[in-house]
Amino acid sequence: MNTTLPAKHVFPALQQKIKGHNLIWLDSASTTLKPQPVIDAVYQYYAQCSANVHRSVHTPGEEATAAYEGSRETARQFLHAKSTTEIIFTAGTTDGINLLATSLSRGMLQAGDAILITQLEHHANIVPWQMLRDHHGIELRVAPISDKGDIDLEAFQAMLTPNVKLVAFSALSNAIGTVLPIKEMIQMAHRIGAWTLIDAAQAVATMPMDVQELDCDFLVCSGHKMFGPTGIGILYGRETLLEKLPPARTGGDMIKSVTFEKTTFNDLPAKFEAGTPNIAGAIGLAAAINFLATVPFHDIQKHESALVASAQEKLAEIPGLRFIGTPRQQMAIVSFLIDNVHPHDAGSLFDDDGIAIRAGHHCAQPLMQHFQVPATIRLSFSLYNEENDIIKVVDSMKRIIEVFA
Ligand code: PLP
Repeated sequence: MNTTLPAKHVFPALQQKIKGHNLIWLDSASTTLKPQPVIDAVYQYYAQCSANVHRSVHTPGEEATAAYEGSRETARQFLHAKSTTEIIFTAGTTDGINLLATSLSRGMLQAGDAILITQLEHHANIVPWQMLRDHHGIELRVAPISDKGDIDLEAFQAMLTPNVKLVAFSALSNAIGTVLPIKEMIQMAHRIGAWTLIDAAQAVATMPMDVQELDCDFLVCSGHKMFGPTGIGILYGRETLLEKLPPARTGGDMIKSVTFEKTTFNDLPAKFEAGTPNIAGAIGLAAAINFLATVPFHDIQKHESALVASAQEKLAEIPGLRFIGTPRQQMAIVSFLIDNVHPHDAGSLFDDDGIAIRAGHHCAQPLMQHFQVPATIRLSFSLYNEENDIIKVVDSMKRIIEVFA
């Protein structure tokens, strides 16, 4: 194992037994395990301070505000945004996309404008745009993928007509592990003047997301998929665009002044953060970012790529096993089916061996329809997995196949 990777005991969840076995966590695409420094940071906020932000002159209130805004600066550095005004704290990726969709629906997009997504998207990057289609007359286009699960760039290009105003796509497919050529796709979208939104939910814990280098207009991610708490995420937006966008949610904190006749909105980023935010979540997210910074992305990718390659090699030897998605570049995720074994049954039987995998449509039903399958078995790897986990999966799988033979 690479020496820069954290020791397993940093993740307390890995010390538990499931049905008498040490837990093997192969469901990091759903949510990552939390390292001790993140748990400590959240605990300390609640234990020591727990005050609200942006409103009190007492010491606990000022400390909470400093910690919350300090977390925003940590998030800015992580995404390499130009300014903290471009970092909006949300409840997660789904929340960030909904926030943007609601804001865009308030006069920024007109009937006849189009939004382009891909066939690989998570429901979180489909349904909010369907709402704009159904309630605001916005056209929703879907760029196809190949039988292997790669984006069809020629078709994507052909769909980029001048009325496309937003192009929204995932950096890394949560269902089959496709790494999308996002920089190229952003450049193609910008050539027709469209804005770009990167769904980085899966990518952030595996590859660097530098918003200036990518030159994307918006990017969303979730804290819990990068070793942080649930209920916190980031919406990055280019400052010039965020200035133009109307707020999506209104109430306390997002205002400068209110009378019954008129409200003046606050400056960025407060304009998009109405109400008491997830203070503990933001503090925990900053701890997660600092934790992630201790392992170079190069090492994470090398480790996860080796696990994907090993899993593919060993699983390929199992009779009746079929991979779903074999893209050119695949990261962290392997999806497959076994003849005569329903994925959900496999999931329960893996659990009997203490192995947590995900069985289902992975919130990507249109992608499952493309492959003409209702569900897959998915292994998703992170920096705490090791070769031995794959050996145990293969052993367990042989037992499962016997059950259904
Ligand atoms: N987008 C992708 C690619 C995902 O994998 C997920 C979650 O699995 C989401 C969006 C939604 O993330 P969340 O449930 O944290 O809002």
